[in-house]
Amino acid sequence: MSRTISVRNPRTGKTDYRFTPPSEADLAATASRLRAAQPGWAALSIEERMARLAGWADIMARDIDAIAAALEADTGRRRVARLEVEGVCASIRGWAQGAPLLAPKADWTPGRSNPALKHSGQYIPYSLVGVISPWNFPLTLSLIDAIPALAAGCAVLIKPSEVTPRFAEPVAASIAQAGLSDLIAFAPGAGETGQQVIGLSDLVCFTGSVPTGRKVAAACAERLIPAFLELGGKDPLIITRSADIDLAVRAALRGSVLSTGQACQSIERIYVDRAIHDDFLARLIKAAEGVRLNWPDITQGEIGPIIFEKQAALIAAQIKDAKSKGARVHTGGKVERHGGGLWIRPTVLSNVDHTMAIMTEETFGPVLPVMAFEDVEEAVALANDTVFGLSAAVFAGDLAEAEAVARRLEAGAVSLKDAALTALFYEAEKQSVRQSGLGPSRMGAAGLTRFYRRQALIANTGAPAPLEAFREES
Ligand code: NDP
Repeated sequence: MSRTISVRNPRTGKTDYRFTPPSEADLAATASRLRAAQPGWAALSIEERMARLAGWADIMARDIDAIAAALEADTGRRRVARLEVEGVCASIRGWAQGAPLLAPKADWTPGRSNPALKHSGQYIPYSLVGVISPWNFPLTLSLIDAIPALAAGCAVLIKPSEVTPRFAEPVAASIAQAGLSDLIAFAPGAGETGQQVIGLSDLVCFTGSVPTGRKVAAACAERLIPAFLELGGKDPLIITRSADIDLAVRAALRGSVLSTGQACQSIERIYVDRAIHDDFLARLIKAAEGVRLNWPDITQGEIGPIIFEKQAALIAAQIKDAKSKGARVHTGGKVERHGGGLWIRPTVLSNVDHTMAIMTEETFGPVLPVMAFEDVEEAVALANDTVFGLSAAVFAGDLAEAEAVARRLEAGAVSLKDAALTALFYEAEKQSVRQSGLGPSRMGAAGLTRFYRRQALIANTGAPAPLEAFREES
């Protein structure tokens, strides 16, 4: 039974959008339509597929106002909404250039163990890829896996978050205009729709929280289909005593508060050499105090609202827990209500330790807890003391020193002399550690090749071995 879902506007707190998820039968019909069109799509050359997708990017770029307006209503932020649209268009154009070079070649290779045998392969795209995406970057995270899957020759069924579903309407219109509706479709809905998408797909790409990731992995395991999971994090930033303090403050602040900290690669804990701790903290507090909300004027300021109402309570609870255990709050620290929306200013904390949830659990807010360390050994131990391992950052005076520390960190990606660079650079392969994810890299060449199944063709250039060769008596 389908039911209408009401959607809250993060700036006003009011319900201003409603949608009805597809019925199970409608969704099954959509999946059948996508499956029927996929072989024709896979039969095109990768250059032809990329030309069609580049045409779609042109349409999205032309319709940027409509798509960005819907994203703005979804997320309560204007500049980042526009950047999301520009970013996915750039990503499609990037794949249009890169995918033909990265696509696997099916050459014949002579065997090493037996020269009479040679092998080649056939790279067969999965037919239907299901994508389940979160609310923090609704467009980017709906398309980040969908684009390379389409490039590989798959069809894609996307379930956006019920918290931020508005953008799907104008994007679906652009897909129709590009003539790609039989290859990409949206399945707007809640968790139930997500489970139905899993039931209809051959492979699932999931971006979201650890608890939901477990449910998705279990449902995929039941069907014995691959689950590529991109989950939460608690990214550390280590700042050594040789660092330029002003540049470290700049990286820490942007890495933590951009998009109100509602980004998986956000800096969530900062470890600073005791020799520069007080100076760094003072400058960080000053910088944090200069950050403005984008309320009441959405064209001003840097910090948008907390998108998901329940997240505000989680952030507030973590700050309360830290305070009760002795943390000092220097800036922010309170969830503010303006015009029905929920906001939180950059919150700098000191006197924190790993008994506090703020240092161990994902916060997903613009919170900067700062802790001193005595030496690099301690800094590395603290950074690795986590159930996560998404990404990390090291700020040092020179790259060689930063690299030496970075190589000891247990995380999928490490930014050197900056923070949160995975949001800006998609070319380096990375695989998360521990609970932050599962599956091949969504970045770099594997971002494409993970959507192919390999079929081995093994040819005998000589005569088949007779059974007598395996007779027991020699
Ligand atoms: P959730 O895990 O709550 O939801 C993610 C998606 O899963 C949503 O579309 C959600 O639908 C859907 N879903 C919910 N229940 C089920 C279910 N039982 N079966 C299938 N799908 C289901 O994550 P959030 O939306 O709260 O996103 C925030 C999280 O995402 C954070 O932990 C963050 O770290 C992580 N994230 C990770 C990134 C990475 O690259 N590693 C990038 C960005 C975010 P609905 O919302 O409609 O309930």
